[in-house]
Amino acid sequence: MSFLQIRNLEKAFGNVKVLKGIDLDVEEGGFLVLVGPSGCGKSTLLNSIAGLETITGGSISIGGRVIDGLHPSQRDIAMVFQSYALYPNMTVAGNIGFGMEIRGVPKPERAQAIASVAEMLQIGHLLDRKPSQLSGGQRQRVAIGRALVRKPQVFLFDEPLSNLDAKLRVDMRTEIKRLHQRMGTTIVYVTHDQIEAMTLATKIAVLKDGVLQQSGTPAEIYNNPANLFVADFMGSPA
Ligand code: ADP
Ligand code: MG
Repeated sequence: MSFLQIRNLEKAFGNVKVLKGIDLDVEEGGFLVLVGPSGCGKSTLLNSIAGLETITGGSISIGGRVIDGLHPSQRDIAMVFQSYALYPNMTVAGNIGFGMEIRGVPKPERAQAIASVAEMLQIGHLLDRKPSQLSGGQRQRVAIGRALVRKPQVFLFDEPLSNLDAKLRVDMRTEIKRLHQRMGTTIVYVTHDQIEAMTLATKIAVLKDGVLQQSGTPAEIYNNPANLFVADFMGSPA
Protein backbone atom coordinates (compact mmCIF):
# COMPACT_ATOMS: atom_id res chain seq x y z
CA MET A 1 0.00 0.00 0.00
CA SER A 2 1.30 3.43 -0.87
CA PHE A 3 2.11 5.99 1.80
CA LEU A 4 -0.11 8.80 0.54
CA GLN A 5 -3.22 7.37 -1.04
CA ILE A 6 -5.90 9.46 -2.75
CA ARG A 7 -9.04 7.68 -3.88
CA ASN A 8 -11.82 9.06 -6.06
CA LEU A 9 -11.26 12.53 -4.62
CA GLU A 10 -13.91 15.08 -5.45
CA LYS A 11 -14.16 18.73 -4.58
CA ALA A 12 -16.94 21.05 -5.62
CA PHE A 13 -17.44 24.72 -4.84
CA GLY A 14 -21.23 24.98 -4.87
CA ASN A 15 -22.31 23.43 -8.17
CA VAL A 16 -18.88 23.71 -9.73
CA LYS A 17 -16.86 20.50 -9.66
CA VAL A 18 -13.17 21.33 -9.49
CA LEU A 19 -11.70 17.88 -8.72
CA LYS A 20 -13.45 15.04 -10.50
CA GLY A 21 -12.49 11.69 -9.04
CA ILE A 22 -8.72 11.81 -8.56
CA ASP A 23 -6.78 8.60 -7.78
CA LEU A 24 -3.15 9.09 -6.83
CA ASP A 25 -0.48 7.17 -4.93
CA VAL A 26 2.83 8.39 -3.57
CA GLU A 27 5.27 5.96 -1.99
CA GLU A 28 7.04 6.86 1.25
CA GLY A 29 9.90 9.23 0.48
CA GLY A 30 8.52 9.84 -2.99
CA PHE A 31 8.53 13.21 -4.76
CA LEU A 32 5.27 13.69 -6.65
CA VAL A 33 5.12 16.71 -8.93
CA LEU A 34 1.66 17.83 -9.91
CA VAL A 35 1.47 19.82 -13.15
CA GLY A 36 -1.30 21.29 -15.25
CA PRO A 37 -2.58 24.58 -16.62
CA SER A 38 -3.69 27.42 -14.42
CA GLY A 39 -7.11 26.77 -12.88
CA CYS A 40 -7.02 22.97 -13.35
CA GLY A 41 -7.28 22.30 -9.60
CA LYS A 42 -3.66 21.89 -8.42
CA SER A 43 -3.95 24.18 -5.39
CA THR A 44 -7.36 22.76 -4.53
CA LEU A 45 -5.83 19.28 -4.47
CA LEU A 46 -2.99 20.38 -2.18
CA ASN A 47 -5.38 22.28 0.07
CA SER A 48 -7.55 19.18 0.28
CA ILE A 49 -4.58 17.08 1.42
CA ALA A 50 -3.67 19.75 3.98
CA GLY A 51 -7.26 19.94 5.22
CA LEU A 52 -7.62 23.61 4.26
CA GLU A 53 -10.53 22.62 2.01
CA THR A 54 -13.27 20.15 2.91
CA ILE A 55 -13.52 17.48 0.25
CA THR A 56 -16.93 16.62 -1.17
CA GLY A 57 -16.17 13.01 -2.09
CA GLY A 58 -13.57 10.26 -1.93
CA SER A 59 -10.85 9.76 0.61
CA ILE A 60 -7.24 10.56 1.50
CA SER A 61 -4.99 8.47 3.73
CA ILE A 62 -1.43 8.80 4.96
CA GLY A 63 0.49 5.80 6.26
CA GLY A 64 -2.71 3.77 6.30
CA ARG A 65 -4.63 6.33 8.35
CA VAL A 66 -7.65 8.03 6.75
CA ILE A 67 -7.24 11.77 7.36
CA ASP A 68 -10.60 12.99 5.99
CA GLY A 69 -12.31 15.12 8.58
CA LEU A 70 -9.15 15.76 10.59
CA HIS A 71 -8.40 19.39 11.37
CA PRO A 72 -5.29 20.69 9.55
CA SER A 73 -3.41 20.82 12.87
CA GLN A 74 -4.13 17.11 13.42
CA ARG A 75 -2.54 16.20 10.10
CA ASP A 76 1.18 15.70 10.11
CA ILE A 77 1.62 17.90 7.06
CA ALA A 78 3.49 21.14 6.36
CA MET A 79 2.83 23.41 3.43
CA VAL A 80 4.93 26.04 1.66
CA PHE A 81 2.98 28.54 -0.43
CA GLN A 82 3.88 30.69 -3.39
CA SER A 83 3.51 33.86 -1.33
CA TYR A 84 5.43 33.09 1.80
CA ALA A 85 3.95 35.30 4.49
CA LEU A 86 6.64 35.63 7.14
CA TYR A 87 5.98 37.51 10.38
CA PRO A 88 7.52 40.91 9.58
CA ASN A 89 8.32 41.85 13.18
CA MET A 90 10.04 38.60 14.04
CA THR A 91 13.59 37.62 13.24
CA VAL A 92 14.40 34.71 10.97
CA ALA A 93 14.97 32.54 14.06
CA GLY A 94 11.65 33.70 15.50
CA ASN A 95 9.84 32.88 12.28
CA ILE A 96 11.34 29.40 12.02
CA GLY A 97 10.80 28.66 15.71
CA PHE A 98 7.33 30.18 16.13
CA GLY A 99 5.44 26.91 15.74
CA MET A 100 7.64 25.23 18.33
CA GLU A 101 7.29 28.21 20.65
CA ILE A 102 3.50 28.02 20.70
CA ARG A 103 3.71 24.27 21.25
CA GLY A 104 5.83 25.00 24.32
CA VAL A 105 9.08 23.46 23.12
CA PRO A 106 11.82 24.61 25.56
CA LYS A 107 14.15 27.31 24.31
CA PRO A 108 17.41 25.32 24.11
CA GLU A 109 15.71 22.57 22.12
CA ARG A 110 14.14 25.19 19.87
CA ALA A 111 17.46 26.91 19.27
CA GLN A 112 19.07 23.62 18.32
CA ALA A 113 16.30 22.72 15.84
CA ILE A 114 16.42 26.21 14.31
CA ALA A 115 20.21 26.06 13.95
CA SER A 116 20.10 22.66 12.29
CA VAL A 117 17.45 23.66 9.75
CA ALA A 118 19.16 27.00 9.09
CA GLU A 119 22.44 25.23 8.44
CA MET A 120 20.75 22.91 5.97
CA LEU A 121 19.25 25.87 4.10
CA GLN A 122 22.40 27.98 4.36
CA ILE A 123 20.71 30.79 6.25
CA GLY A 124 22.55 30.27 9.54
CA HIS A 125 24.16 33.71 9.22
CA LEU A 126 20.76 35.41 8.85
CA LEU A 127 19.01 34.25 12.03
CA ASP A 128 18.92 37.71 13.65
CA ARG A 129 17.59 39.55 10.59
CA LYS A 130 14.04 40.66 9.95
CA PRO A 131 12.26 39.51 6.75
CA SER A 132 12.52 43.03 5.27
CA GLN A 133 16.31 42.67 5.38
CA LEU A 134 16.28 39.54 3.22
CA SER A 135 16.26 38.87 -0.52
CA GLY A 136 13.37 36.96 -2.13
CA GLY A 137 15.37 33.76 -2.22
CA GLN A 138 16.41 34.09 1.41
CA ARG A 139 12.80 34.69 2.43
CA GLN A 140 11.75 31.58 0.58
CA ARG A 141 14.43 29.61 2.41
CA VAL A 142 13.02 30.86 5.71
CA ALA A 143 9.52 29.78 4.64
CA ILE A 144 10.86 26.33 3.77
CA GLY A 145 12.78 26.25 7.06
CA ARG A 146 9.62 27.02 8.98
CA ALA A 147 7.92 24.01 7.39
CA LEU A 148 11.00 21.77 7.60
CA VAL A 149 11.52 22.29 11.32
CA ARG A 150 8.24 20.50 12.00
CA LYS A 151 9.55 17.30 10.43
CA PRO A 152 6.18 16.52 8.88
CA GLN A 153 5.17 13.16 7.40
CA VAL A 154 4.24 14.92 4.19
CA PHE A 155 5.47 18.16 2.69
CA LEU A 156 3.29 20.17 0.32
CA PHE A 157 4.73 22.86 -1.95
CA ASP A 158 2.45 25.11 -3.99
CA GLU A 159 4.54 26.75 -6.72
CA PRO A 160 7.16 27.76 -4.16
CA LEU A 161 9.60 29.20 -6.67
CA SER A 162 7.33 31.03 -9.07
CA ASN A 163 8.01 34.45 -7.53
CA LEU A 164 11.76 34.10 -7.86
CA ASP A 165 13.90 35.15 -10.80
CA ALA A 166 15.18 32.47 -13.18
CA LYS A 167 18.68 32.10 -11.75
CA LEU A 168 17.44 31.79 -8.18
CA ARG A 169 14.77 29.34 -9.26
CA VAL A 170 17.44 26.98 -10.54
CA ASP A 171 19.48 27.35 -7.33
CA MET A 172 16.44 26.69 -5.14
CA ARG A 173 15.41 23.73 -7.26
CA THR A 174 18.80 22.16 -6.61
CA GLU A 175 18.45 22.98 -2.93
CA ILE A 176 15.02 21.35 -2.67
CA LYS A 177 16.26 18.25 -4.45
CA ARG A 178 19.20 18.02 -2.04
CA LEU A 179 16.89 18.47 0.96
CA HIS A 180 14.63 15.70 -0.27
CA GLN A 181 17.55 13.35 -0.75
CA ARG A 182 18.90 14.22 2.70
CA MET A 183 15.62 14.04 4.64
CA GLY A 184 13.69 11.45 2.66
CA THR A 185 10.38 13.20 3.33
CA THR A 186 7.38 12.47 1.14
CA ILE A 187 6.67 15.50 -1.03
CA VAL A 188 3.82 16.71 -3.22
CA TYR A 189 4.99 19.66 -5.27
CA VAL A 190 2.96 21.84 -7.61
CA THR A 191 4.55 23.69 -10.48
CA HIS A 192 3.68 24.82 -13.97
CA ASP A 193 7.34 24.60 -14.95
CA GLN A 194 7.96 21.39 -16.92
CA ILE A 195 11.73 21.47 -16.41
CA GLU A 196 11.23 21.78 -12.66
CA ALA A 197 8.86 18.80 -12.82
CA MET A 198 11.26 16.65 -14.86
CA THR A 199 14.25 17.35 -12.60
CA LEU A 200 12.56 17.01 -9.19
CA ALA A 201 9.96 14.28 -9.57
CA THR A 202 10.09 10.59 -8.82
CA LYS A 203 6.54 10.67 -10.19
CA ILE A 204 4.64 13.25 -12.26
CA ALA A 205 0.86 13.66 -12.28
CA VAL A 206 -0.74 15.69 -15.06
CA LEU A 207 -4.04 17.34 -14.28
CA LYS A 208 -6.49 19.01 -16.68
CA ASP A 209 -9.87 20.46 -15.71
CA GLY A 210 -9.90 18.51 -12.44
CA VAL A 211 -9.27 15.19 -14.17
CA LEU A 212 -6.02 13.26 -13.82
CA GLN A 213 -4.68 12.66 -17.33
CA GLN A 214 -1.70 10.47 -16.46
CA SER A 215 0.73 9.69 -13.68
CA GLY A 216 4.09 7.99 -13.96
CA THR A 217 7.83 8.47 -13.81
CA PRO A 218 9.20 11.50 -15.68
CA ALA A 219 10.53 9.16 -18.38
CA GLU A 220 7.17 7.40 -18.78
CA ILE A 221 5.28 10.66 -19.04
CA TYR A 222 7.74 12.18 -21.46
CA ASN A 223 8.28 9.12 -23.68
CA ASN A 224 4.79 7.62 -23.54
CA PRO A 225 2.30 10.43 -23.03
CA ALA A 226 -1.23 9.05 -22.56
CA ASN A 227 -2.82 11.61 -24.86
CA LEU A 228 -2.19 14.67 -26.96
CA PHE A 229 -2.72 17.02 -24.04
CA VAL A 230 0.01 15.37 -21.95
CA ALA A 231 2.37 15.25 -24.94
CA ASP A 232 1.77 18.90 -25.65
CA PHE A 233 2.03 19.99 -22.03
CA MET A 234 5.23 18.06 -21.33
CA GLY A 235 6.78 19.01 -24.65
CA SER A 236 7.19 15.37 -25.68
CA PRO A 237 8.65 14.74 -29.13
CA ALA A 238 5.96 14.08 -31.75
P1 ADP B 1 -4.67 25.88 -9.96
O1 ADP B 1 -3.97 25.87 -8.65
O2 ADP B 1 -4.43 24.67 -10.78
O3 ADP B 1 -4.37 27.11 -10.77
P2 ADP B 1 -7.07 26.09 -8.34
O4 ADP B 1 -7.08 24.82 -7.58
O5 ADP B 1 -6.61 27.30 -7.62
O6 ADP B 1 -6.25 25.89 -9.71
O7 ADP B 1 -8.51 26.38 -8.88
C1 ADP B 1 -9.25 25.41 -9.61
C2 ADP B 1 -10.62 25.98 -9.93
O8 ADP B 1 -11.38 26.12 -8.74
C3 ADP B 1 -10.57 27.35 -10.57
O9 ADP B 1 -11.56 27.41 -11.56
C4 ADP B 1 -10.90 28.28 -9.43
O10 ADP B 1 -11.54 29.43 -9.89
C5 ADP B 1 -11.84 27.44 -8.58
N1 ADP B 1 -11.76 27.78 -7.15
C6 ADP B 1 -10.67 27.69 -6.35
N2 ADP B 1 -10.96 28.06 -5.09
C7 ADP B 1 -12.27 28.40 -5.08
C8 ADP B 1 -13.18 28.87 -4.07
N3 ADP B 1 -12.78 29.05 -2.81
N4 ADP B 1 -14.45 29.11 -4.45
C9 ADP B 1 -14.86 28.90 -5.71
N5 ADP B 1 -14.07 28.47 -6.71
C10 ADP B 1 -12.79 28.22 -6.40
MG1 MG C 1 -2.62 27.24 -7.79
